[in-house]
Amino acid sequence: MSDGRLPLTLLGGALGSGKTTWARHQLYDGAFGAGLHVLVNEAAEVPVDDQLLVRAEGVTVLAGGCVCCTGQQALRAALRDLCDRRSRGAGPNRVLLETSGLADPGAIAANLRSDPILARHLRLDGILVAIDAVHALTQLAEEPLIHRQIAVADRLILTKVDVANPADLQRLQVGLGLRNPAAKIEGSQHGVTVALPSTPRDFPASLPASPNPPDPAVAAVLQLPADLDWAETMVWLSALLHARGDRVVRVKGVIPSAEGRLLVQSVRGVVEPPELLPPQPRDGDGRLVFLGRGFSETALEQSLRSFLDLPDAESSGCSEQEDGIAV
Ligand SMILES: [Zn+2]
Repeated sequence: MSDGRLPLTLLGGALGSGKTTWARHQLYDGAFGAGLHVLVNEAAEVPVDDQLLVRAEGVTVLAGGCVCCTGQQALRAALRDLCDRRSRGAGPNRVLLETSGLADPGAIAANLRSDPILARHLRLDGILVAIDAVHALTQLAEEPLIHRQIAVADRLILTKVDVANPADLQRLQVGLGLRNPAAKIEGSQHGVTVALPSTPRDFPASLPASPNPPDPAVAAVLQLPADLDWAETMVWLSALLHARGDRVVRVKGVIPSAEGRLLVQSVRGVVEPPELLPPQPRDGDGRLVFLGRGFSETALEQSLRSFLDLPDAESSGCSEQEDGIAV
């Protein structure tokens, strides 16, 4: 739902992941609606194929530096300019930022949130990450960055599914669902969205670990107690992320409240203002998904319960606070 801020969608994915093809086709099909401004970060200064961008309201190429690190200032300037134009009634309705293959979308989201002007005028509407279904298993074993891209995604787009090995494709589907249970996983071929094959539940699905990881990646699902005070939960979440934002890369979930269903999320320790969702309840309401390293479901639950002064759900006999997630 709109709060008046300009929605920004981030599109990431490794070099050659097919994100450009996907974006062009989706744009051409009108998937982003009218008035889309496309920002393209071409770290390698490859010219953009403007033919396929005719439906965009405008295109800005941010050349000469990756916008998650060396090109941050250029990105902020371009976005401030779009917000200025919009406040004069002439700007876009939505912005799509197509990042370079080297970018960490989580770092971009955190940088933008730390800019007071952009935080007031821009709303991060989603992080899309394209995954090359043909090469992803090799890339996962070699590239730490692709693990970071997956961890912050709201939507994971498996590309080139028509030419991928069917067993690899199933392993990716199931494995990505375990790595990031908060993300929607979809298929694409030549930029067109296609259905993914159904996958048996017991499919062997472990994905290659990141090379040289400091700790194994964790996806923890915290089932929230019924009759929870959402405002207090937000205070807990902020305190947790203040203390442990380096470990918790992403939090996402829907909290039922008297006001309605609230979408709660954070990227890299920064909590977004809760967003009111349409009223129909969905599976998965009442839980928060945490992605990161160095914590466990048990520790998160204990931390929340002790913060809210609730008794422990069940004494499981696990060592308490083994990883120091308490706040
Ligand atoms: Zn970068």
